[in-house]
Amino acid sequence: MKTCPKCQSEVEDDFDLCWNCNYSFAEKQIVDIKEFTPGSRKIDCLRCTVPMRFSGNFSFHEGFLTGVFTSKETFDLYTCPKCGKVEFFVPQEEQKYKIF
Ligand SMILES: [Zn+2]
Ligand SMILES: [Zn+2]
Repeated sequence: MKTCPKCQSEVEDDFDLCWNCNYSFAEKQIVDIKEFTPGSRKIDCLRCTVPMRFSGNFSFHEGFLTGVFTSKETFDLYTCPKCGKVEFFVPQEEQKYKIF
């Protein structure tokens, strides 16, 4: 265990980020956690109203859906654990693309 110098919370040695105040041991300052944790969105399945599960970052193959996604290459992939609905989100942006 190590102690966060900002809030004195105990942090696991394996973690570089304080769970309490987002202090980064690597950066030696408090950071905006959204930049470091893709998948932190809170998304409910519209059909089941259960939280969707972050399934990782997904890269489209070149040429796939050309013309639809022009400037972004990777997407956050979420799936509903109940009905299996899949949705893609552009990282760090509010805009949502529904594919299925
Ligand atoms: Zn802290
Ligand atoms: Zn669902």
